[in-house]
Amino acid sequence: MQRFRREWWWLLLGALLTAALLATGLWIERAQIEARERRHLAQQARMLHDNLVPQLVAINHVLASLQADAPRWREQGAGMALLNQRLQLLFHALPGVRSLNLLDAQGRVQASSHDELLGQGFGQRDYMQSARSGLPPETLLVSRPFEGALGGWVLVLGRSLQAADGGFDGLLTASLNPEYLHVVLQSVRYAPDLFTSLTHGDGQRLMALGDANERPGDKLAQDGSLFSSYLSSQRSEAVLRGPLRAGGADYLVAIRAVQPAELRMDRPLVVAAGRTTAAAWAQWAQRAHFLALVYLLACLALGAGLLALQRRQWRLWHAQELLARQQALQRQQADMLRRLADNLPGLLFQYQLEPDGRSHFPYVSSGVADVYGLTPEQLHGDAAPVRARIHPDDLAPARRKIEESARTLSDWKAEYRAILPGRGERWLSGQARPQRLDSGAVLWYGYIHDITEAKRQAMELADKERMLRHLMEQMPIGLCLVDAAGNLVFRNQRFADYFGYAASEPLTLARWWQEVYPDADYRASVLSIWNQAMAHANAHGGTMPSHEYRVLTRYGTQRIMAIGGIAMGADFMASFIDLTEQKAHNELLQRLAFVDGVTGIANRRRFDEALLLEWRACQRKGAPLALLMFDIDHFKAYNDLYGHQRGDACIRAVAGVLSAGLGRAHDLAARYGGEEFVCLLPDCALPDALAKAQELCQAVHALGLAHQGSPAAPVVTLSAGVACMVPDEHNSPEMLLARADANLYRAKFAGRDRVDSGFASLS
Ligand code: GH3
Ligand code: MG
Ligand code: MG
Repeated sequence: MQRFRREWWWLLLGALLTAALLATGLWIERAQIEARERRHLAQQARMLHDNLVPQLVAINHVLASLQADAPRWREQGAGMALLNQRLQLLFHALPGVRSLNLLDAQGRVQASSHDELLGQGFGQRDYMQSARSGLPPETLLVSRPFEGALGGWVLVLGRSLQAADGGFDGLLTASLNPEYLHVVLQSVRYAPDLFTSLTHGDGQRLMALGDANERPGDKLAQDGSLFSSYLSSQRSEAVLRGPLRAGGADYLVAIRAVQPAELRMDRPLVVAAGRTTAAAWAQWAQRAHFLALVYLLACLALGAGLLALQRRQWRLWHAQELLARQQALQRQQADMLRRLADNLPGLLFQYQLEPDGRSHFPYVSSGVADVYGLTPEQLHGDAAPVRARIHPDDLAPARRKIEESARTLSDWKAEYRAILPGRGERWLSGQARPQRLDSGAVLWYGYIHDITEAKRQAMELADKERMLRHLMEQMPIGLCLVDAAGNLVFRNQRFADYFGYAASEPLTLARWWQEVYPDADYRASVLSIWNQAMAHANAHGGTMPSHEYRVLTRYGTQRIMAIGGIAMGADFMASFIDLTEQKAHNELLQRLAFVDGVTGIANRRRFDEALLLEWRACQRKGAPLALLMFDIDHFKAYNDLYGHQRGDACIRAVAGVLSAGLGRAHDLAARYGGEEFVCLLPDCALPDALAKAQELCQAVHALGLAHQGSPAAPVVTLSAGVACMVPDEHNSPEMLLARADANLYRAKFAGRDRVDSGFASLS
């Protein structure tokens, strides 16, 4: 835009300079024309001057000679007649003169070249006034133009005559011939528009040719007129420019006074030759107009040309601008694509397979360095460097895939190995879409990236999966995977072992529930617990705490199982641990803890617990609690006599009798220690307790276990201490024990094989 504006400025400057040059040239030319015109006009004026001067000199000479002879004619009587004749002769000799006259002092014509003028009085004429005012005889009087007696405008030259006393005595006049003057003025007009004139020295015109406004008698010496300028210049000749009359057309006029030095003219005559400046410069003006027109047309043409050129340039520039913008955009896009391609973790490529089997990569992104350890330039001409990198075992399959893709124009997809220098074997994955070119070649656009790490991870994952599957299969926990649709899609071996479902058998959760929890009430309670556990699992990362449930297997067995699990997305993995055996084992252990190992009846710990429990129970009920304490008599001697093993057998036999002798559910027989036993009888008053003690002692006695070493009896016997209390805040289990023990001691002391209750000893 700036440039276009500058061009216009330059054009304007050029136009102005040309205009200035043209104007200067025209101005100089006009000045030259004016100078030439001035020269010509001055020359014409001079010619007029030179034509008139001899005529004036001749007239003056004739008048002077007549003046000299005047006295003679006046004195003689016939003088006037002679003078008349002479004047007629002289008139014919002087072609420029219209009439020659002698006027007396009053202005009457006394003699004339023309008889018709004789006697006429011209005393009122101006020139008579001038002559009378004392004109020296040698002075040539020049009258103002006036309309002459013979018609037309004339001008009179005259010389005065003097009387003897020196006073005015008449005037000799010669009037100039207008025809003659016409010829003179006409002779120098070299152009029709040239005007020539003869004017009296005081500015009154006598004759003018070529001036349309020509009027004889005009006063030219008006303010602002050329004549006034001339008069004020005081020069005898001048070339002036200006209006002839005030407000008239502009003229270039050469003016020259006709007043030869040898004549003593009282007033000069003035000749002029002039042209209107318009006429003088007509040709120049025409050319100037033509040039101006040419100049204007040239300016217009140049302007139009520049405009057209600029429009073309503008269109061109605009097109270039568009092109540049498009190219910039393309470059930007190409740059963006290149950046994208370069920053991808693989390589983008174009691969071309020619019909003759040659192949190359027209384009590969810089990722080729990572993927193949090659540069893009290495592959532009030939794809061989890539083939050299491919693992020998994978080369043939890769080629087959490419050939198939070229044949069917289906996408090429492949995973293959490459061997890169310094990096060893790498796994690559590629895919590309083919396109058949007009030349018959096939061009693929595709992407290749390194999947070594992914492969390794996938393999690791597969290993881990295998291991996990193995573990799941082999682990001593039942596992099943329930999918979102409620199918048990995976069951491990232990699950099958637990529940009896074959691995191939389809199984839904609903069916499993039905079969495992056949009792509707129990199933409902399990479902409730299960739903709570599920809600807990959802709020705690999917882990479901395990609960114990009683399940029925297909084998018809009831089992106790801890069932828990973990949610994995929409799937759920449930775990089953069979607690049945463990439960049973625990029960056994429990039992063993309270059973005496030798006798199989309750041991001392069990007795201690039962004593406390029954004590509290009887205290609540206000019921009596009886305690019988037994000790085998002389058992030390028994051991000594029969040995320890038989001693143990004896103890077991006694325990069996005691335990079998107690009929009620809450009665308890226990081995208190060594060969001592206790029986705890809740809700049993002392008499009943005594009776029971008695009964038991007798039952042992009745066993008849031989005891040769006993002084009390030949068989094994017992001594018993009985105590009975209604538990309250004043007594305690310890007191009950102490009393029973004390009574047992009393029974021993009293001779053994008896029962003692603290009141009386019973044998
Ligand atoms: P007494 O009539 O005064 O009770 O005389 P005794 O010999 O029974 O005396 P004591 O009760 O003090 O003796 C207990 C003996 O019982 C001592 C020990 O040899 C024997 N004994 C204790 N526990 C066992 C046992 O478990 N098996 C065997 N074989 N003998 C035991
Ligand atoms: Mg004892
Ligand atoms: Mg004893």
